[in-house]
Formats: sequence, C-alpha cells, structure tokens
Amino acid sequence: MKTYKIAAIPADGIGPEVIAAGLQALETLARRDGGFTVDVTHFDWGSDYYKKHGEMMPANGTDQLKPFDAIFFGAVGAPDVPDHITLWGLRLPICQGFDQYANVRPTKILPGIKSPLENVGPGDLDWVIVRENSEGEYSGHGGRAHRGLPEEVGTEVAIFTRVGVTRIMRYAFKLAQSRPRKLLTVVTKSNAQRHGMVMWDEIAAEVSREFPDVKWDKMLVDAMTVRMTLKPKSLDTIVATNLHADILSDLAGALAGSLGVAPTANIDPERRYPSMFEPIHGSAFDITGKGIANPVATFWTAAQMLEHLGEPQAARRLMDAVEQVSGKGIMTPDIGGTANTQEVTDAVCEAIRASNI
Ligand code: NAD
Ligand code: MN
Repeated sequence: MKTYKIAAIPADGIGPEVIAAGLQALETLARRDGGFTVDVTHFDWGSDYYKKHGEMMPANGTDQLKPFDAIFFGAVGAPDVPDHITLWGLRLPICQGFDQYANVRPTKILPGIKSPLENVGPGDLDWVIVRENSEGEYSGHGGRAHRGLPEEVGTEVAIFTRVGVTRIMRYAFKLAQSRPRKLLTVVTKSNAQRHGMVMWDEIAAEVSREFPDVKWDKMLVDAMTVRMTLKPKSLDTIVATNLHADILSDLAGALAGSLGVAPTANIDPERRYPSMFEPIHGSAFDITGKGIANPVATFWTAAQMLEHLGEPQAARRLMDAVEQVSGKGIMTPDIGGTANTQEVTDAVCEAIRASNI
C-alpha cells in the first residue's frame, strides 16, 4: 500500500475550514479505495504565526516542506496584516522556491450550478487556464525612490526569460494536446508591452511547431475578457502570464458560478520538489467562522493533487461525488444553496462511499 506524505498549511480565515473538509474527503477516498493512505502533517504558518514570530513561516520553511509528496494549502490574508506581507511571506516563497512554474486552473460549470451567463450550462464552458507561475509581473523586482516626496517613483518590473516562457508554452501545448479539442489560446498584451510580450508571441510560434496537431490562436488580454464572456464555447486551453492569468482566472471562476468552486494546482512538472494544491479564493474574512465556506474548490484541488500523485481513479471518484452532490442542489449559499460546509462535505463523503466507478 502506498502512503502519500501531505503537508497541510490551512493558514488564514476560511483556509482551516475548507482544508478540514478536503482532508475528510481525502481520508474517505483512501478508505474507499484501499490502495493508498494519506499521512498528513499540519503546519500552523500564516497570519497568526506572523503576529507571534514576525514572519509568516520559519526561515527554513521550504526545507521543512521538501520531503513531502504534496502541499495542501488553504488561503492567506488577514484584516490586520498587509496583503503583500501574507502573499510574499508564505505562498510565493513556496511557489517560487519549489519552481512550481505551471499554475493549472480548470474551470467548468458543475451540474446544478448556474452561470451568470444566460444560456450557458454544463458543457458550454470547459477551460483550463495555464498561468506562468515563476516570473513575469510577479518577479519581485522593482523599487521605490524618494519615498513620500512629490517626486516619488515606484516601479514593478516584469521579467520574461526565454527559458521561463518556453517551458510554460511547452506545458500548455502538451496539455492542450491531451484534451479532446486540442485547442490553445495564447494570451498577451503585445501591442502595448512590446518587449517581453512580443518575445512571448514569438516563442509561442516556435513551440507550436512541436505540436502540429494543436490548433492555436493569439488574443490580447483585454479582448480575451470579452471572448470569455460572449463566446465561452470557443475556448479550451488558455496560457497567459502570471498577472494576466491571475485576473482571467477570477473571471473564469465567476463565470462558472463562484470563486468558491475554483481550484488551482501549482505544479513543478519536473517533479524535483513537492507541488502545491489550493483553492483560488482567499481567506474570505466576511464569512470566516460562519461554517458556510464552499468546500468545492478545495475538493477539486484535492482531485488535482490525487491526479498528480498518480491516483487518477480516486481523483475521478472525488469529482464524480462532487458533481452528484452539486447536481442534487446540496450547496453553500454563495452558489444559491442553503447547506453549510459540513453538510456538503458529509454528502460528498457519502457519495464517495457509495461510488462504484
Ligand atoms: P476572497 O477570495 O477571500 O473573497 C472574495 C469573495 O468571495 C468574498 O465575498 C468571499 O466571502 C467569497 N468567497 C471566497 N471564497 C469562498 C468560499 N470558499 N465559499 C464562499 N464564498 C467565498 O478575496 P478578497 O476578499 O479579495 O480577499 C480576502 C483576503 O484573502 C485578502 O487578504 C487577500 O489578500 C487574500 N487572498 C488570498 C489568496 C490566496 O491565499 N491564494 C487569494 C486571493 C485573496
Ligand atoms: Mn488571484
């Protein structure tokens, strides 16, 4: 029997609520499957840890995580800690420290969930957004000069490297090739950003020659928001920069019904380090402690984690259970239901136990 070592970092706000739900589903799956177990270690890093120790995680945090098979992450963000500290103190050092350069964000409309788009239902919107996750606009370069003076200057430097762009492009083409429609849309802003973005377009054309069976096209990011909203069926796999894909995937989540259902996987495709799995949403302080956080995004990212660990059957079983439960209308208030987190979780676990796929 295989044992997967999982590092759980629930962190802030509703993070602990949804990670508890996700772990309950994982344990139910392991028992139902019988072929694997999960060995979970909890880390209490996050904003409370920061208030006590002055840092979001210990200086050797990534060394502590290195021996794990995967990282299961909740969310960061607290009302009384600046957002750039929580983000740069925990999530980004893990993504960048472990070179998790491919951030994979599937979106589809689950049964029973209504899209805000008219006449768009399950099957009409089935996308995977691939976000470059190691450089670009989140390279961390830049600075401030003449702080507080009238002539103050702040710069954010976006860095694109040939190695970085080529590897994410290859990842996206390969993913598009593995999906039935073999369709890829490459997003840039190469009209206004005429250096790194033009290089991005050129590298897309170069890499496309390795994948002659993939149909691909290019879009500017502003026009892309219109296409996602008005012609959702025309899209399948999408690749974009760190910032552009960050924005587009929140839109994708909203078009699929709620941020509470949108998952994300931070993958090191070369498997040198553990990959990290998390819901897209943040710590949602407005609903923290009310027991109504939607656990679906966390279930979905748990399915991505199982897929990555080499348990595709358990991943399918989990998503099938989630779809059965949403199809029955057992859902949290953010997607129009009346159930709480625990009721949705119990229904998903029941469907896992009853599953025979
Ligand atoms: P948010 O995602 O926390 O919440 C946005 C809205 O969506 C809120 O109304 C919230 O109640 C709702 N929502 C989010 N997840 C939900 C769920 N699972 N179930 C039901 N409703 C849900 O974004 P925000 O309000 O902009 O940010 C709050 C904090 O989270 C900030 O500190 C921000 O920096 C942080 N944040 C962290 C991450 C991350 O950890 N990856 C991502 C985004 C935001
Ligand atoms: Mn985001």
